[in-house]
Amino acid sequence: MAIYFYNTQTKKKEEFEPIEAGLVKMYNCGPTVYSFAHIGNFRAYVFADILRRYLEYRGMVVHQVMNITDVGHLTDDADEGEDKMVQAAGREGKDPWQIADFYSEAFFEDIDLLKIQRAKVYPRATDHVEHMIRMIEKLIGQGVAYASNNCVYFDISKFPKYGSLSGNTLEALQAGARIEVNPDKRNPLDFALWITDESHLMKWKSPWGTGYPGWHIECSAMSMSHLDESIDIHTGGEDNIFPHHECEIAQSEGATGKQFVRYWMHTRHLLVDGKKMSKSEGNFYTLRDLMEKGYSADAVRYSLLNTHYRQQLNFTLDGIEAGGKAVTRLRDFMRRLETATASEDNPEVQALTETMVSTFEVAMDDDLNISLALAAIFDFVRDINRLEVSTADASRIREVMKKIDHVLAVVMVEEELLDGEIEKLLEERVQARKDKNFARSDEIRDYLKEQGIILEDAPQGTRWKRG
Ligand code: AMP
Ligand code: ZN
Repeated sequence: MAIYFYNTQTKKKEEFEPIEAGLVKMYNCGPTVYSFAHIGNFRAYVFADILRRYLEYRGMVVHQVMNITDVGHLTDDADEGEDKMVQAAGREGKDPWQIADFYSEAFFEDIDLLKIQRAKVYPRATDHVEHMIRMIEKLIGQGVAYASNNCVYFDISKFPKYGSLSGNTLEALQAGARIEVNPDKRNPLDFALWITDESHLMKWKSPWGTGYPGWHIECSAMSMSHLDESIDIHTGGEDNIFPHHECEIAQSEGATGKQFVRYWMHTRHLLVDGKKMSKSEGNFYTLRDLMEKGYSADAVRYSLLNTHYRQQLNFTLDGIEAGGKAVTRLRDFMRRLETATASEDNPEVQALTETMVSTFEVAMDDDLNISLALAAIFDFVRDINRLEVSTADASRIREVMKKIDHVLAVVMVEEELLDGEIEKLLEERVQARKDKNFARSDEIRDYLKEQGIILEDAPQGTRWKRG
């Protein structure tokens, strides 16, 4: 069976065939670590996660790389404005390196909570500046970039394909460009590869002066140094299409002469009242905000993956609530299977299981049609709940659900991990009680209850069992 993905470059669904059979090289534009990521950002990362997990489900090995942007991402796309890292450093009274460390760590905590599988590598831009400088030198050597007044720009007039990803022509883009105030650029749309700025808090020596790299060159260099000059899939949110990914193509193909990316895949935005959820609009929720309100990370994950990635998703708290209910329904189903007692297998169970799996796969093969895939699962849950299920049937269903949950990661509670976690939480609860911190002790008890763990306090200590 073939898998089809919608390719932003060709604007149609195409059969997915990696360059090397069985191995997928995938790069995801990652976070700029100047503050906590909001759940709009996480929509893009949950999508990349589902994509990777489904490719693995279909037997492929995925080399996934997600960058950490820790320098050079300016507040304005037209090479103006302040570096977001430096701005955050000023706001928080720290240096930008501390900002990067702090928010990278927060990012990793959040992705673990959201059950986003860790990529193979999370390269940081600041560790790849040498590579970027070499690439810029190559681009100048090739005649597609030029140094001007100590900065280096890409000359878009040398790359006629510029604009094709976003469905623009160079002429249309140039006509629409705002009046350029930067006299150092040959064309208004030329973009910075290197910015010489002695006063920048994060700076490196270069042949053009001390300064820092442009945001776009970072992703080209990191993709090439950790994957290859040509890769299979590159993802990001729809706002990355222009100018970021357009610029990545120009630089990468300008340097190597090879196709940079075969399949470009973009997530539509998470919206709030019709507007993109974003830091600058101030209309955002972080995962932490939502967890403080009592929503689980699983509910958030479900609500983010529940809508097809190429449809806009309107954020509401009701949506997260519904996500939580869907997760509970699936977990209740799994729990009910544990109580199956019939000894005779029911042939209908097998037929329903096969239909569910094949509908799930056909749907996911079609550009990750998650709505159809989830509908197949919920139909199956409803139908099985009406039947008498044998212990053998129940254990086969459990295996199938486990396999499907390798893609969704919302059904199974990782029991082994949980055992250790439970013990740790119980120890913490004993300590909290000793410290008379009853709020924390109750919080732990409630959390465990939510996970279906029942505590029994006895004089010898606390025992626990799964409910
Ligand atoms: P940033 O940290 O701003 O570079 O964004 C990180 C990723 O999140 C990029 O791939 C963005 O396209 C994506 N993104 C930002 N806002 C949203 C949103 N509201 N919905 C979906 N994706 C988003
Ligand atoms: Zn990027």
